[in-house]
Amino acid sequence: MAEKIKRIGVLTSGGDAPGMNAAIRAAVLTAIHFGVECVGIRRGYTGLISGDMLPLTAEHVAGISKHGGTMLYTARSEEFMTPEGQNRAADNCRFMGVEGLIIIGGDGSFRGAQTLADRGIPVIGIPGTIDNDIGCTSYTIGFDTACNTAVEAVDRLNDTMQSHERCSVVEVMGRCAGHLALNVGIATGATVTLIPEMVIDFETDVADRIRSARLSGKTNFTVIVAEGADMPAETVAAKIQEATGVDTRVTTLGHLQRGGPPLVRDRVTASRMGYKAVELLLTGTYNRIVCMRGDQIVDYDINEALAMTKGLDVDACLMQDALMSGQD
Ligand code: ATP
Repeated sequence: MAEKIKRIGVLTSGGDAPGMNAAIRAAVLTAIHFGVECVGIRRGYTGLISGDMLPLTAEHVAGISKHGGTMLYTARSEEFMTPEGQNRAADNCRFMGVEGLIIIGGDGSFRGAQTLADRGIPVIGIPGTIDNDIGCTSYTIGFDTACNTAVEAVDRLNDTMQSHERCSVVEVMGRCAGHLALNVGIATGATVTLIPEMVIDFETDVADRIRSARLSGKTNFTVIVAEGADMPAETVAAKIQEATGVDTRVTTLGHLQRGGPPLVRDRVTASRMGYKAVELLLTGTYNRIVCMRGDQIVDYDINEALAMTKGLDVDACLMQDALMSGQD
């Protein structure tokens, strides 16, 4: 039987996501509950390389779940991409007495975790990214809050577009995946949604849809463009104006989507994942990624998890297509 771990470390890495704080809190309080010490490492792998560690008590994490961002700060580390940086980080873990490390971040952060596991550091990953683009899990912390933030912004834009009979082209985040854009498009009743997973034919996918919505009596239009789509939002807007004559405005929501108080789904999922991560370490189950399958929290071996891929929800795409063709 594995010897019980005495000190757990936790860090956040890559882009921040609302709900990361709830995961940190859950990890700290679960560790305390089982009589284990918990330390935080600031600024992701950058802090692991420099040994920037702080002890975390219940007081440190009191009331943090309601805040977006991450109390541990986050960073992207070039140095950690090198074997020298990875060796230094692993040595520091041992030096700091960190016997198990919880990494909250995206798949890049998990690839970093894999290099620590290869160096004998027990790791557990928790998926935290607003993009929901991690293959092994159906849900990532922050996605719901980011979708809602974007939907609220588009609803506000729609009010003014309706008054002025304009077209609103809104760029949403999501990196190379269209999950965020697809959900925002469905929730806001967009006329058109453009995602990275599709090859865009402007005439059929955009101009014809706006023309037919106009023929059926619509006087304002919403076009959601994922940041990774193969036609930038600015280009889409210029082409709409030229092809249809409709006064068209572009809005890039940008980092607005990353901030704000996490919604219930993110606080609860993050708490469940933080608890699970500590439970895994304390039962000697190392080098796993905590995931969501249906309503269940499960875990996969880190190498298997990183080999998994995830496509868009095909049913949701078909449904959205049907709704867009019968524009209200
Ligand atoms: P997000 O999806 O929000 O961007 P992420 O975790 O995927 O989150 P990345 O910038 O890809 O964000 O990765 C975060 C950090 O993880 C990087 O700055 C780097 O330090 C480390 N990392 C990423 N890929 C690797 C890799 N292949 N090997 C070692 N470390 C890596």
